[in-house]
Amino acid sequence: MKKGKKLYEGKAKIIYACSEKNYVIQHFKDDATAFNNQKKSIIEGKGILNNRISEHILTYLSQVGIKNHLVKRINMREQLIQHVNIIPIEFIVRNIATGSLTKRLGIEDGTVLDEPLIEYCLKDDGLGDPLISKEHIFTFKWATKKEIEKIDKQLHRINDFLVGLFRGVGIKLVDFKVEFGRLKNNNKNEIILADEISPDTCRLWDMDTEKKLDKDRFRKNLGNLIEAYQDVARRLGILHEQSNIRPLKFPKPKAVKLKKNK
Ligand code: 5GP
Repeated sequence: MKKGKKLYEGKAKIIYACSEKNYVIQHFKDDATAFNNQKKSIIEGKGILNNRISEHILTYLSQVGIKNHLVKRINMREQLIQHVNIIPIEFIVRNIATGSLTKRLGIEDGTVLDEPLIEYCLKDDGLGDPLISKEHIFTFKWATKKEIEKIDKQLHRINDFLVGLFRGVGIKLVDFKVEFGRLKNNNKNEIILADEISPDTCRLWDMDTEKKLDKDRFRKNLGNLIEAYQDVARRLGILHEQSNIRPLKFPKPKAVKLKKNK
């Protein structure tokens, strides 16, 4: 398999053509951007960690029946993926209110939502990825009713799976963004999960301390982004180092007031 010309360059990834028909190569860069490209930096090693973490998660998802574009990881920074036409919508799933939701609607940061909340944003950097409704999606034919119905179901399954996966390693999945694409050269116009799932696209908080283990470390100038991403990779069993072993924590027993015997 040979790498061909650059087909598309995004903020954190590049897509290259490849000699295999219907497949392309996805390259993970070290670039970090936030606030619609107003804040930019290069964080050495971020692309390598996202490549590994996303491979790990998408492999698990395909094992539980969520079809996605990943074929295999080729090297430290690249994956062979199926070529899709990306639907121009960012699908956001929220379990805990934070970020743009709290700013937009004045909801208290950290509010645990009764049910996962799905939001749709138009994938357009020039417009700042604005929030859109299903009616916008159907009116402007960005996707059909049938497609959104299918995607919504998948979003709930993906969320259920990821909440469990991260809970098992002491992390709260606060929210995440995913993208879907229509398979190229596929008469059935099948839709599959695409892009990446990594600490760049999820909000991940430590279960006990609520320490941020995601791109908010960059957005909010908290520092130690690589250390946080490494921590996620270690907990998921991708990086094998001694520090992988977390000491078990038990909740402190609550003080109990004893009633005086009369
Ligand atoms: P918010 O709308 O609160 O800024 O983001 C909600 C979730 O979607 C967060 O996990 C955030 O990382 C992810 N997200 C939303 N838009 C983008 C985007 O353009 N790029 C990336 N990497 N993640 C996004």
